[in-house]
Amino acid sequence: MEVIDLNGRTAVPGLIDSHSHLITEGVRLSQLDVSGKSMEEAAAMAGARAAALEPGAWLHGRGWDQNLWPGREWPHRSALDRACPRNPVVIDRVDKHSVWANTMALEAAGVWPGMPCPPGGEIARDPDGTPSGVLVGRVMRVLYARMPLWDGLDPMEAFLAAEREMLSFGLTSVVDCGTRKADFFLLLDAYRNGVPRLRFKAFMQSEPWEEEILGNGPARGLCAGRFSLDGVKLFSDGSLGSQSAWMTEDYADRPGHRGGHNYRDADLEEAMGWVRDRGLQCAIHVIGDAASEQAVRAMGRVLGKGARDRRWRLEHFQVFSEALAREAVGLGLVPSIQSVGLMTDLHMAPDRLGPARIADAYAWRRLLDLGSVIINGSDAPIETPDPLKGIYAACARRDLLWRPKEGFRPGDAMTVGEALMSYTAWPAWACFCEGELGSLGVGKRADFAVLDRDLCETPLEELRHAKALMTVIGGCPVWTSPDF
Ligand SMILES: [Zn+2]
Repeated sequence: MEVIDLNGRTAVPGLIDSHSHLITEGVRLSQLDVSGKSMEEAAAMAGARAAALEPGAWLHGRGWDQNLWPGREWPHRSALDRACPRNPVVIDRVDKHSVWANTMALEAAGVWPGMPCPPGGEIARDPDGTPSGVLVGRVMRVLYARMPLWDGLDPMEAFLAAEREMLSFGLTSVVDCGTRKADFFLLLDAYRNGVPRLRFKAFMQSEPWEEEILGNGPARGLCAGRFSLDGVKLFSDGSLGSQSAWMTEDYADRPGHRGGHNYRDADLEEAMGWVRDRGLQCAIHVIGDAASEQAVRAMGRVLGKGARDRRWRLEHFQVFSEALAREAVGLGLVPSIQSVGLMTDLHMAPDRLGPARIADAYAWRRLLDLGSVIINGSDAPIETPDPLKGIYAACARRDLLWRPKEGFRPGDAMTVGEALMSYTAWPAWACFCEGELGSLGVGKRADFAVLDRDLCETPLEELRHAKALMTVIGGCPVWTSPDF
């Protein structure tokens, strides 16, 4: 037995990210990143990158956010056309629910002025009807279909890059919320050969239904407890930032608009029935209150009395009334939030929702007071997968610059203890792993993280500086900080 002296540092159970996208996170690490930049700066950065590419090669970047720009105007293709005349360029919005493309990319994807838009999507247009370069929601697929998958990177290399990053944050288990079929087999193979170390839990992106992988139900604890197939990820609506989350009332900053949704009630129940019949868990992306209401009702009808035992999940669950919270918690559904995203969203949500509905946004205290667990994640690549930033955001309800000073609805903050639970014991339970993971005890799998400070003894302002120093999975150190 090896004894490691932590010199007064703190060990916590291995941290669990309940919602991320590993390969996409790995791709992100090498992508053009325009976050925090103005539209002109972003276009100039794209121009510099494109200049190094062959003419005609696709450039894919990410990170713009019109809410940070003067006037909050959506970007326009013309800025990219000027900077990148020889390459099709697509830059994802920070939330990945809309894209900004140049004319060459729009033409390559066959986006023409009179093109009808699929339900749940939107093509932004100039006054004369020409697409202005922003596509929101489902219609983005026409662009992505033309682009090289994973930006031309090797998906296993991208996965391993994401794994290295996540291990350095003290993460020991990660739920991949929307695994593609081809990647599932690729990763299973790698895990069978003992290559990755992070515990990986797959919720399959499953449309159309995939009997080959899902037909036999969940498969947990494969590859010595490193690899699990847990369930299916469904997608109901969009995002608040892109004004595509499905709301029961108009957006405060866009009268007449309530976002969009992907399912009619009957279709959603049919999909959920299919998942239930295979004994799988269902995780559904719901952000707007209308989407959440539809999902909670559907889960209630499809699962009936046995709902509590299924541990089905509401991914994001960002806007919900007191009554809806009561209904969801009453059914034992699991709210799966990303507190780290609040640091971005607190600058945008008040405009989207207006003063009356803002009380329904990110109302975590409401859930905890009803006796619910909360599971936490990053939605990486949307936000950093660093769980310590998530813990800070959950407790401080401010961004990394300590804004707003008074906190964003601070009454809904979690305690440090609750935030830690949302990254450890509660997600272990939500994945049916509470006997093995999520706490330190005899008979558990010995996953833990060493942190540079005791979070419970750290003043709120200082929490944002907390760092992992060492990550241990199954009793073996898998990452050690040079600072340790
Ligand atoms: Zn996601």
